[in-house]
Amino acid sequence: MEPPLIRYRAQVSGSVQGVGFRPFVYGLALQLGISGWVSNTPLGAEVQAQGEREWVTSFFEKIKSEIPFPARITAMEFTEMPTEDSSGFSIRESRTSGSIRATVLPDIATCSACLTELRDPTDRRYLYPFINCTHCGPRYSIIKQLPYDRPGTSMAGFPLCPDCLREYQDPTDRRFHAQPIACPRCGPHLELWEPDGRVIAERYQALERAAMALQSGEIVAVKGIGGFHLMVDARNDVAVRRLRERKKRESKPLAVMVPSLEWVSHHYELSDAEWKLLASPEAPIVIVNGSGSLAESVAPDSSMVGLLAPYSPLHWLLMDILGFPVVATSGNLSDEPICTDEREAVQRFDGIADLLLVHNRPIVRPIDDSVARVMDGEPVIWRRARGYAPMPVPLAGIEAGVLAVGGHLKNSVALSLDGMAVVGQHVGDLDTQPARMRMVEESHDLAALYHLEPKTVIHDLHPDYASTLFAKAKQWPTKSVQHHIAHAASCLAENEVDSRSMIVVWDGTGLGTDGTIWGGEFFAFEDGQIQRIAHLRPFPLVGGDVAVREPRRSALGVLFEAFGEVPIEFADWLGSAFELKGSKALLSLLRSGTSSVMTSSAGRLFDAFASLGAKFHVSRFEGDAPMRFESLAKGEVQTMGYPFPIRQENGLHILDWEPALQQLRTALTTVTSPSEISGMFHCGLANAIGQLAVDLHFERVGLSGGCFQNSLLFESTCQALRSHKIQVFSHHGIPPGDGGLAYGQLAASKFGWTMGREVR
Ligand code: ZN
Ligand code: ZN
Ligand code: FE
Repeated sequence: MEPPLIRYRAQVSGSVQGVGFRPFVYGLALQLGISGWVSNTPLGAEVQAQGEREWVTSFFEKIKSEIPFPARITAMEFTEMPTEDSSGFSIRESRTSGSIRATVLPDIATCSACLTELRDPTDRRYLYPFINCTHCGPRYSIIKQLPYDRPGTSMAGFPLCPDCLREYQDPTDRRFHAQPIACPRCGPHLELWEPDGRVIAERYQALERAAMALQSGEIVAVKGIGGFHLMVDARNDVAVRRLRERKKRESKPLAVMVPSLEWVSHHYELSDAEWKLLASPEAPIVIVNGSGSLAESVAPDSSMVGLLAPYSPLHWLLMDILGFPVVATSGNLSDEPICTDEREAVQRFDGIADLLLVHNRPIVRPIDDSVARVMDGEPVIWRRARGYAPMPVPLAGIEAGVLAVGGHLKNSVALSLDGMAVVGQHVGDLDTQPARMRMVEESHDLAALYHLEPKTVIHDLHPDYASTLFAKAKQWPTKSVQHHIAHAASCLAENEVDSRSMIVVWDGTGLGTDGTIWGGEFFAFEDGQIQRIAHLRPFPLVGGDVAVREPRRSALGVLFEAFGEVPIEFADWLGSAFELKGSKALLSLLRSGTSSVMTSSAGRLFDAFASLGAKFHVSRFEGDAPMRFESLAKGEVQTMGYPFPIRQENGLHILDWEPALQQLRTALTTVTSPSEISGMFHCGLANAIGQLAVDLHFERVGLSGGCFQNSLLFESTCQALRSHKIQVFSHHGIPPGDGGLAYGQLAASKFGWTMGREVR
């Protein structure tokens, strides 16, 4: 007698459309002798499977465990069904009615199967710079609307040739329903342009001539996935300096695209986690230690460099010809959004690029490269863009239709779905009009993609942020969230913490609820409530934005707060930091108290000690001086540090930096080196955080805010807390800095930690 048959239906939700999910299920079914079908649905996919119990069970288990990247299953719901007479397994046409919940996928780096074909002289896509399949290729950057199919993408203008169409329609093919597929016959192609837009070469020849130009030190603007890069030989100091001059980017480190992973292994010592990140399908810029035979001007005065693997076939072909690393920096002037259109590029790169390597596949939305770093052994995303955006991040308990517009620096926006947050890509600082327009577009774009009209808009407490002004100008109900509470909420939500914990939020600046500038804050989370329980001792600061660029002003602020003047031991420091007149003017402003604000900012305290201890008086870009100060300590985690005692004042705990300043004062009269001062400073702060957690009996501590991108601070704090058997949680998929603020604002609104206008 034959064993009885069973039939089950599985509703699959997650990222299962346009990612080779159906061919994968089809293949498994054939392998295991399962009959039934698979189909896309508005919510994801549906699978019906019939066979002997043992095989049906193993079929569904394999779907879960063997699902190929980038497909991801978030849930599978099973229903038992009556068996049917039919045999065989099929892929059914999509059901397209109903609400849209299938996720929009990010752009994915070239997979190994495509890379092999790209280099195979017998393959019909040999050396074709737009090869892709269901497991790789552009997605978010080419999608105009959902549902995700070819007419809804910027590939609409490239009808499939018969060969491509056959692959597209064959359920057993790797390119089954891969929307962006193309070949040399039917797809986009390359051109090399003079700066004025004149075509000088086409197709592979364009690539070869662009490579020749890079070899001879020229600057080439290369149209990639989410926009243009400006590229130049990263070993050629003169050429890199020329790029810096033309791009008006003085000293901020430049990202480097490596020729191959093998090249990296010859020049850098990476940890396993760093390797994995560098070679990942998301392909972010990975910040690593060392400089590996690059020109000094790539990352001046820095012990770190950002490396990026080639992530599109175009990049791979170019790097295969070159065999050496190139600077690959966003094609823009400093602080403006990345350029995406080749005709616009002719204008924007006038006087910057010597040649333009372009193609005719339109980019629907600009997307920057992501940035990540391995800290405490785990990857942390610093800038969430290509490869990650707009993948939804779980946010338990949130309802759909809440829009959060983020902060002012490193802006990103986020939109809630049911129990999820779609975190938009990195927009950048909102100092320029084009950047502010990007933020507005990004908000509308996310809402339109998911067919959601925002019900509530959450913004920062700061009334003058461009994001706040945008939120308030609309006919939407708005609510505000205090900056550091949003950071704390993001840290709690990302880690799904619901038990009593302390969250340390250290960053540059954010407006506090008391009208002063916060940035060295400690919160207690308990029973769904949040409360500020401690902060760094505040000090006065003259000239808000200018002070960010001039750490010496923070230094003067702490000296004035502690001593009311500049003690004699700091005479040498004073002489190096200021012209005589300058310091006198600033001191009299501090005395009058009129032009200064009080701040508890940790970022500014780092500035102060970087200036006093290592004479880093001016930051060439945000966070520059503290980064150089961190590098000085050579990443050595110490256990001896400066004292930062804790005292109580008006029901709050104050972490006092004055005793540390006193020790620094003494150190200046001896032979203490700046690197030792840096080590003592970092270690002292880490110990103080540990001590406060112990004093207040916390078993769990969260770390958030841009200061925790300082890996010395982060890792010594983790170590200090763990030495007291305290559990540490921090960020992974959500940036610790202001890039994670919008997600935090959504989380804060879920917790009910919002303020102000409910409805207008
Ligand atoms: Zn592929
Ligand atoms: Zn074709
Ligand atoms: Fe912040």
